[in-house]
Amino acid sequence: MKRILQIFTGGWNQSLHSSSAIIERIQSIKKRMPVDGLILGWSIEPQLYRDVCDYCRSRSIETYLWLPVFSEIPTSHHPDPFVNLMGTPASVYALQEGESFEFFCPSSYRNRQILLDLYDEKFSECGFDGVFLDKIRSPSFVTGLNDVLGCTCDSCRQVFDAGGCHPKDLKELIENHPLQAVFSAQSFNPARGFIFENPLVRQFFEVKKDLYISAIESIVDAFQSRGCKVGLDVFAPSLAALVGQDLSRLVKISDFIKPMIYRKTQAPAGIGFEMEAMEKALPDFNHDKLPS
Ligand SMILES: [Zn+2]
Repeated sequence: MKRILQIFTGGWNQSLHSSSAIIERIQSIKKRMPVDGLILGWSIEPQLYRDVCDYCRSRSIETYLWLPVFSEIPTSHHPDPFVNLMGTPASVYALQEGESFEFFCPSSYRNRQILLDLYDEKFSECGFDGVFLDKIRSPSFVTGLNDVLGCTCDSCRQVFDAGGCHPKDLKELIENHPLQAVFSAQSFNPARGFIFENPLVRQFFEVKKDLYISAIESIVDAFQSRGCKVGLDVFAPSLAALVGQDLSRLVKISDFIKPMIYRKTQAPAGIGFEMEAMEKALPDFNHDKLPS
């Protein structure tokens, strides 16, 4: 087992901690337990990272730059939006300053390039051993059902069409039938999540996983070709498929994954928080399929 410490330095333009405060924190934790790695990000402060990475290298602690991928892209670069089932951009859930959970299109080459350019210009010379990719997913039920059912921009829609589940059919299904019937769960497995009875809904979530895995794979490749190790932040296995994550495939393309098993977090990705949001979005959802 490896013990990896994760420290949020702030959003792109924030500066929450000094390098000496971070190093002191690592030293104080090291007195109580071994520290094998450090995840640090994502404020743009190259000198801070150089100082901390130098310290970590001398103590054999691996360093990873924490980078959000399909959310938090600086809007000054005009990223392509994530388009929900109703054809409008996904809603924003503002958690804290510098972290807005505003999601963007996973297929967009332009969005991918904004992230890689940002890395090349601001972070590639800081001395990190790798990157830790966060927000490699779609919006969740936290901003409502329609945001889970995307992206439906022209490029993503072509992927869903080719996979046999046209977003327009899904929209029609939802508009003409009670949600309880459309999203009736056939079964629930903690490792695989919900299996839905409706074939169109079931197929939608399968294709959504394909859409995200190919987008993530291309970004992972780009970082690996730059000599970076790659860690991935993922949802709890029981919820991952709903936001487009196929954990069995993600584990194969990365150096490690970190499932967010947050039982009591009152924020996106917290299991209780996400389940409450799901129940609110699908009020008549058949709860009997959930474990007690
Ligand atoms: Zn899209």
